[in-house]
Amino acid sequence: MPTIFTHPAVPLAVGLGLGCNIVPPRLLLAGIVLSILPDLDVIAFKLHIAYASDFGHRGISHSLSIAMLVALSGSAFARQFHSSTGKVFSFLFVSMASHGVLDALTTGGLGVAFFWPFSSARYFFPQQVIKVSPIGTDHLLTERFLTVLQSELLWVWLPASLLAIALRFALHLARLHIARENCRP
Ligand SMILES: [Zn+2]
Repeated sequence: MPTIFTHPAVPLAVGLGLGCNIVPPRLLLAGIVLSILPDLDVIAFKLHIAYASDFGHRGISHSLSIAMLVALSGSAFARQFHSSTGKVFSFLFVSMASHGVLDALTTGGLGVAFFWPFSSARYFFPQQVIKVSPIGTDHLLTERFLTVLQSELLWVWLPASLLAIALRFALHLARLHIARENCRP
């Protein structure tokens, strides 16, 4: 997995890129939490559940169907998020599903059970560029951990920042277009 600090890069990029009118702060915070949530399944190691089991690390909790279910549940609270059902669902789904996507780009461990319950197969993307983070806190601030952070800066934070800038730019262009349309006689 990428480190716990890096999974929020996707909701942050989308949320800050679209701005607080589309992704209000409370919704952004929920997205950040959901981007980290799937890794609670590391408890499976303590419970001696096999890594490759559906209930193991990168299994059910990393699947697209669970991300969809959680996002659907979250969208029932659209009013509390000061947003619409569709926007809450989309943002929460992208935030949680992005976790598995980043994991599938890492260089170690088992793949991600994206398609559970239809398939228990584990998947990686053909290009695995993010150095896998060691599980647990024993490795914090070791040389290996710093190499992981370096790789995450390059392969996650840099593209995420570019995505945020691109979204801002696209929104700006869309607003200019609408303003021009409204000014037509
Ligand atoms: Zn994970």
